[in-house]
This record gives sequence, C-alpha cells and structure tokens, in this order.
Amino acid sequence: MNKFLNRHNLLPVALALVLLAIVGVVFYQPIMNAVMRQIVRSAMAKKNIRFDDGLYAGLCGTGAPMPDINRAGPCVAVLAGAHFFIVDAGDGSTKNVLLMKLPIGKADAILLTHFHSDHIADLGEMELQRWAGGSNKTPVAVIGPTGVEQIVQGFNLAYQLDDGYRVAHHGPETMPPTGAGGIAKPFALSAEPNASAVVFDQDGVKITAFKVDHRPVVPAVGYRFDYKGRSLVISGDTMYSESLLEHARGADVLFHEALNAPMVQLMNENAGLAGSPMLARVTQDIPSYHSTPEDAAKIAAAAKVKQLIYYHIIPPLPSPILTSLFLVLQRRFV
Ligand SMILES: [Zn+2]
Ligand SMILES: [Zn+2]
Repeated sequence: MNKFLNRHNLLPVALALVLLAIVGVVFYQPIMNAVMRQIVRSAMAKKNIRFDDGLYAGLCGTGAPMPDINRAGPCVAVLAGAHFFIVDAGDGSTKNVLLMKLPIGKADAILLTHFHSDHIADLGEMELQRWAGGSNKTPVAVIGPTGVEQIVQGFNLAYQLDDGYRVAHHGPETMPPTGAGGIAKPFALSAEPNASAVVFDQDGVKITAFKVDHRPVVPAVGYRFDYKGRSLVISGDTMYSESLLEHARGADVLFHEALNAPMVQLMNENAGLAGSPMLARVTQDIPSYHSTPEDAAKIAAAAKVKQLIYYHIIPPLPSPILTSLFLVLQRRFV
C-alpha cells in the first residue's frame, strides 16, 4: 500500500470523501443555480459590437442551396458609418447576425441580389428580428431589382399571423404593429449589360447596384459600397462578368461567389450512387451560371482589387481536406 495511504490515514480520507459527497448532494441545486446564473449573466451582458467610423463587412452566410453543415446561406453584413445593411438573407443567416452581435434592430435596409431561394429564404426571420431588435415602428426597407415587391409581399403575408401573435403576447410598445414585415424598394436597370444605379446615397454612404450575369436568372445584381474612400463589392451570383469587373475597379475588398467545377463534376458523375436524377441534372446545370475560383481571381486581378474573399461556396466542403482542395483543384478529375 502507498505510504501516503496507510491504514492510519485512510479513515480521515474516506470520511472527507463522504463529507464531500454529502455536501455535493445537499448543495447540488444551489451550486448549479449559481453556475447557471453566471453563464446566463455573462452571455446576456454582451452588447452589440461597437465600431469606429469606417466601412466594415461580416460574413453571416457563405453557403449556397446544397445542404451544408458548416455554412448558412449567403449573407453579408455591411456597416458604413452610422448605417447598417444586410445583403441577402440566406437560410440560417439571421441567427448568425444575432450571434455576431450585429445591431440588427438598427438595420437601414436588407438588399437582395436576386430571388433564388438560397438568397431570400431567411427574409421573414431577418425582418422579424429587425422589428423586434429595435421595437421599430416602420418596416425595414428591402432594396432589390424589379420583382422585389412580389417577394416582400409574399413574406409579409406569410408572417402576418405570427406578427399578430407577437404584438398580442409582448405588447405594442415592444412590438409596434406598424413595424412588422418589410417595405419593398425596387429599382430598375437599363438594358445595357453593364447598367448600374445608385440605390442609397446618404451621409457619405453610397451603394451602387450593377448588373451581373446569372442567366437565365434575370434580374441579378451585385452591390458596391463606397464610404470615406473605402469600398467593397459583393458579387451576388454570377458567371464571369465584365460588368462586375468594371464596377469592382479599385475596390478594397471583393466578395465573390465561387463554384469548384471539378468537384461539382465529380458529384455529377456519382449522382447515380445517391439514386438521384435530380442531383445529376442540377450538378450538370449549375456550373453554367456560376464562377470558378479562377474566374473570380481573374476579375479581382483585372479590377486591381486589393483583397478577394470567396463566399457562396459550391459545393459544400464538409472536411478540411476538401476546403484546402477547393482552391487547388481547377481541372477536371481524370
Ligand atoms: Zn445562390
Ligand atoms: Zn442564384
């Protein structure tokens, strides 16, 4: 027997252990309550992040329509001075905006690049959180190309019953009935392939919408943000686009979508294993209206963009090995 645990000191040790167990049982609930109280207190004490005056962007979603355990649908949050914008409301992105402690209740507008489901799926939740987050009395502006009226009308209708429940349950001071939903702010672009329009111009913050090429999805746009000599550009969904190149010139940061064609090709060749003719067709079709990482890099280089960030990643990359291969594999597998 260990010299430290001989029969003379075994008894006190056993008694101490028994005493400890009794204390644990008796005080288990109060201890757990105190621990829980501390966890909740510190989690809820975290205020929205404060930023110095400037232009900032955060990625609240970097995925695409395919199920992706690591990424919400496309969403870019932009802070410019005192203004706050969200570009696209991909599925699950609202929760990321909240987790990022961004001031959703102060959002000036939600901007939509186009109306594919992966870009609008969370619009209802985004509007709801903007309403609740600031007890806002007016609905959030939803800026988008022509057609955005139909999208906003549909979500407003779908959330109408829930809006009523919220007002009834939490009271009109917390949830002012006039603040629910969104207000569509459509803009039209001329027929030129590189057409653009300024959709927001206030306090030195300028947002320019410009055409991209996501045919047959028309309209489809990207957005450029300019503020105090800084600029960032969000591609939306597009194949290689000269219009995007023109509007991204000299930008500090370009957020560009990216589809790895060899990986999608591999999925296409193996779609039969998943027993899914739908997957076979989709993986055959999608490369034609998206950009490869190489395309995006060419645009960024030609436009003399300072930094390129890939988002709207296709296909999903469930393993770190695939993440590192995403930018490496650019030729078809043989
Ligand atoms: Zn998309
Ligand atoms: Zn799309």
